[in-house]
Amino acid sequence: MSLRGQGVTDTEVLAAIERVPRERFVPAAFIDQAYEDQPLPIGHAQTISQPRVVALMTQALELGDRHRVLEIGTGSGYQAAVLSKLVRRVYTIERVRPLYVEAVQRFAELGLHNITTRFGDGTKGWPEQAPFDRILVTAAADGSEPPAPLLAQLAVGGVLLIPLGGRDAQRVERFRRTETGVVREGLWPVRFVPLMTDTTGDPDEPVGV
Ligand code: SAH
Repeated sequence: MSLRGQGVTDTEVLAAIERVPRERFVPAAFIDQAYEDQPLPIGHAQTISQPRVVALMTQALELGDRHRVLEIGTGSGYQAAVLSKLVRRVYTIERVRPLYVEAVQRFAELGLHNITTRFGDGTKGWPEQAPFDRILVTAAADGSEPPAPLLAQLAVGGVLLIPLGGRDAQRVERFRRTETGVVREGLWPVRFVPLMTDTTGDPDEPVGV
């Protein structure tokens, strides 16, 4: 798998990706495909993102090693693990309980102690830990605006990255909070699973965890 030459130029991001074993984040049936540049199913109608997309999103966050980062959509935990190699602390929220439980276990097994996890609806953010230097949403929100609590929990100088738009026409947008307001910038087209809210169905069917 080569990400260099595909728009991924930040050597620190590439080094972080090299330090995270993606095969530990995919179901056993897909281990032989873990290093191909494609998304893979992780159950519960969710996917682990394509490595190139993880790399581009991570790069577009313009991370610093003192940053506290909030991720919405833990999923397999892969993106959070990559972030954890680059910043001081990662807070990550997942609303499908079995995925949340598996990710917590992976972080412990891999010794990723600077990741703090939460089960719940990430569209509300994490008010007790706000403000955040960076916020990354790894599921696509309907419409053209990010959930208001997320923008509200962004520090001055902070960056929020979120895929916006319907199922077939999503684009990653970058929002920067300045002293005087919020500056918005469109980045590139993507295809993410939908960001759900409390009112759009409950994926948390009983599975005995
Ligand atoms: N970042 C993940 C990929 C995420 S797929 C990885 O690296 O593997 C999107 C994830 O967002 C799914 O696990 C989905 O359950 C979760 N999700 C969707 N809506 C959410 C919400 N409102 N709050 C928290 N997580 C949400």
